[in-house]
Amino acid sequence: MVIVRDYESFLVERQKLQGSIGFVPTMGALHSGHLSLIKRSKAECDNTIVSIFVNPTQFLEGEDLDKYPRKDEADKKICQLAGVDILFMPTVDSIYSNDELVIMAPKVRGFILEGAKRPGHFDGVLQVVMKLLNIVSPTHAFFGKKDAQQLALISQMVKDYFMHTKIVPCDIIRDEKGLALSSRNVYLSQDEYNRALSLSRSLKEASYMFAKGLSDVTIIKEKMEQVLLESVDTLEYVAVVDRTFKPLKKVQQDNTIILVAVFVGNTRLIDNIWL
Ligand code: AMP
Repeated sequence: MVIVRDYESFLVERQKLQGSIGFVPTMGALHSGHLSLIKRSKAECDNTIVSIFVNPTQFLEGEDLDKYPRKDEADKKICQLAGVDILFMPTVDSIYSNDELVIMAPKVRGFILEGAKRPGHFDGVLQVVMKLLNIVSPTHAFFGKKDAQQLALISQMVKDYFMHTKIVPCDIIRDEKGLALSSRNVYLSQDEYNRALSLSRSLKEASYMFAKGLSDVTIIKEKMEQVLLESVDTLEYVAVVDRTFKPLKKVQQDNTIILVAVFVGNTRLIDNIWL
């Protein structure tokens, strides 16, 4: 595995690779969720490139940019053991310049749910993903369904801008108790961790209700809110949307995503389920 930190050195290494290129962009502090994306890339592509870049433009004022977990040495070992070909760890200066041309999230899908709670977040995500996809020029890029709205917007960007990468959605990886893995889980105390389990519990409850034949979104949301409000500190949203992120009144088989966002203590957590 080679590790590179700037665009020019990256290109030298990239040009040596032949065949299909799988790309897994991350912000580091790698866990089994990230690893599942890397394994999928290894299984489906001839070469695998991982990036680790804590992208400043997707953090809002007052968010956790400065204390976002950084575990460079452990991350390098994980990538090495996983058989990654190139690990790209660029500096902020090598990615951004002043007075840049910007790309913006679309008006409707970009400004609901995560986009409404974190205005500007998706502009930053799309900006960095556009840059990384252009630098890496992968045949395939692997993204987690955990960040479902991000995945939808990136897929839209790739389509709208005629980019040549196939976006591959990957399943959410959870711990043994059901908590969706996230680099931010390290912020949770034991008590907060226990309370955070209500996210997956509420989603399980929703899928159970649907499996029993109930599809009314109002009733499903009420039940989920009840489960969540017993445990979390702030419930930001429970949403039931179709795959294009249009709100639904009735759950539709194979075309529904149920999403939740909460604060447990000072930690913001999101989770979702695809029905
Ligand atoms: P991040 O480092 O948080 O920016 O995540 C990098 C990629 O890993 C994104 O595509 C995420 O959706 C994905 N990811 C994060 N957590 C999980 C998880 N628990 N299961 C599957 N994919 C995940």
